[in-house]
Amino acid sequence: MINRVRYQLTEADIPQTWYNLAADLPDMAPPINPRTGQPITREDMKRTMPDALIEQELSKEREFEIPEPVRQVYAQWRPTPMFRARRLEQALGTPARIYYKYEGDAPTGSFKPNSAIAQAYYNKEAGKTLLVADTGAGQWGSAVAFAAKLFDMSAKVYQVKVSYQQNPHRRALMETFGATCVPSPSTETEAGRAILAENPDHPGSLGVAKSEALQTVFDNPEAAYTRGSASNHVCAHQTVIGQEAIRQMELAEDYPDIVIGCSGGGSNLAGLSFPFLGAKLRGGRDLRIVAVEPVACPTLTRGRIAYDYADSGGLTPLYRMHTLGHTFVPPPVHAGGLRAHGIAPLVSRAVEEGHIEAVAVTQTSCFEAGVQFLHAEGILPAPESTHAVRVAIDEAIRCREEGESRAILFGLTGHGYFNLSAYERYFAGTLPDDALSDDVLDHGLASIPELALV
Ligand SMILES: *Cc1c(COP(=O)(O)O)cnc(C)c1O
Repeated sequence: MINRVRYQLTEADIPQTWYNLAADLPDMAPPINPRTGQPITREDMKRTMPDALIEQELSKEREFEIPEPVRQVYAQWRPTPMFRARRLEQALGTPARIYYKYEGDAPTGSFKPNSAIAQAYYNKEAGKTLLVADTGAGQWGSAVAFAAKLFDMSAKVYQVKVSYQQNPHRRALMETFGATCVPSPSTETEAGRAILAENPDHPGSLGVAKSEALQTVFDNPEAAYTRGSASNHVCAHQTVIGQEAIRQMELAEDYPDIVIGCSGGGSNLAGLSFPFLGAKLRGGRDLRIVAVEPVACPTLTRGRIAYDYADSGGLTPLYRMHTLGHTFVPPPVHAGGLRAHGIAPLVSRAVEEGHIEAVAVTQTSCFEAGVQFLHAEGILPAPESTHAVRVAIDEAIRCREEGESRAILFGLTGHGYFNLSAYERYFAGTLPDDALSDDVLDHGLASIPELALV
């Protein structure tokens, strides 16, 4: 009987520090305050962020110490397992060695609590009582609802309306944790009302939900805005994934030739790949890193590198990143967590420098890969995660065709047990069309602000 192999670490192996890729890249372009045209200051950032996170956001230090209370919460589910997918290898008849780092056993079912716990901790220390979040599929909202409960805080979540409707059980989970969940665009904020006035049937987007969440925080000094992805500090928090994976690859007496992650705002890809990339940049082994995005939201493969807002309403600073334009609204694919118009500046820079490749895949081909993975490994991947599964399988097939045995490591970012209706639609052949028209793309790109600085 061929079974998957599990590489198990102990609690003592939970990393002591988060890794900051900025230490090993050339200087990053600073975020710009759109009102002054100057780099944002700590004072600007204080409106929505506690000092400790501001320091991490701006830092070029290589490592940030993980506070002991955060490590203690991590110990509820970390270290997460890494598996070798022997059955999948056999099913594919590939000489490739396929490994996956599985984050779906975390509370709320994905990697997102890695940062939600840290942000809740620092905001609690800073005296805040309410955590505000924007969420797509509901994974970030669930993680914040969980983190708020642990640190005895309240949570309010703006959820992209199309996901709120597609996925009622995610909302129920957030509410069961005690959070308030509002479909976005909503009539609760100025940003939401403005969007609804223009288009009452607006399906929502991460950019709109972010505007609503930010506005709520600007209006309430007790409230803190939480970031589910993209920010430098969020990418750093997620590096516990890759640091553990490095140890687990040692246990496997192997090293990845290819690391693959799905790519929305970029944080799970950063979390898994940055520790490997950092090692490479400091003289270690070379490897390929592949970002996988949906064709419906091709930020890295069809976006531009420019300064743009992170939200649709223009309330955030301007970040230099790959962007589809801050008003871009992708087709309503099921991988809600990958429907982001922009990407982490650190991931964007690593792509620009040639350290990370990007590829876009169709929704149907991803669900097909998800089902194949389920049949071999017994875990139902989240729709977002199926993007990494798709490319891991493609690379394994390429190994078979080329007669090469490579080590492939991918991030299985979460389970899909709240997404069975999406799998049902896949089997029924009624998944929504994910093709992106040139019109929608051009319309989004046209919203990138003109900035002489770029
Ligand atoms: C949020 C989410 C993603 C995508 O977010 P990134 O910031 O790009 O990592 C991927 N998978 C799952 C399960 C998620 O919840």
